Amino acid sequence: MCATCGCGDDEARVTTLDEPHDHGHGHSHDHPHSRAGDVRTHTLDLEVAVLAKNDELAGANRRWLAERGITALNLMSSPGAGKTTLLERTIAELGRPVSVIEGDQETLFDAERIRRAGARAVQVNTGAGCHLDAAMVARALESLQPEAGGLLVVENVGNLVCPALFDLGERRKVVVISVTEGDDKPLKYPHMFAAADLVVLNKTDLLPYVDFDPDRLAADARAVNPAVRVLPVSARTGDNLGAWFDWLHAQTLDS
Ligand code: MG
Repeated sequence: MCATCGCGDDEARVTTLDEPHDHGHGHSHDHPHSRAGDVRTHTLDLEVAVLAKNDELAGANRRWLAERGITALNLMSSPGAGKTTLLERTIAELGRPVSVIEGDQETLFDAERIRRAGARAVQVNTGAGCHLDAAMVARALESLQPEAGGLLVVENVGNLVCPALFDLGERRKVVVISVTEGDDKPLKYPHMFAAADLVVLNKTDLLPYVDFDPDRLAADARAVNPAVRVLPVSARTGDNLGAWFDWLHAQTLDS
């Protein structure tokens, strides 16, 4: 189990869809693992060590990406907020190369959707793990070999808690929240919203049917992260996706 959040990330698998029989079951990352009976102080020491090791590997990922002129995003949300649908539209309409690292506990569903949308994808299955870490992304980058000068999106495991703790080497963190989840999430999960460079408010086409106040969501997001921008879109209908594409392009231009 991961000593930081208690999830089991020791069975992570990286699958490249071009080579579906090579599931890479090897366990190459070297997180310290907690054991039954660890005292509280020991657990805290391990947490610091895990995050320090992760930060070191994230730094290596960041250098690897910078050398290739690749802009990397860490895309996070609850399950079902619409990350993959947003990526399908982005791949089709952005007008520059996109490659994707998909994180889910199980299945190749999302990597298959991304490949059908026309982009390169690898799937990382975390087993019992609830987040991606920098070591998993390093392994995935080796398999994916994303196009130089392009956009790399890491779609994290659906979870508003642990993914906020782990730097993957990305340039920007994006949180997607959908109107079906409730407008109280920024104050309930402040670490995620505090870490975000952008909050995408998705499924705005459903606003007439749900009890969700976009102004409250934006105000609460800014209460934990005063500089954060909240961008309402509908990935399903395409409403306001132009603003999302403009934001993506700007992340490269200001590098
Ligand atoms: Mg997904």
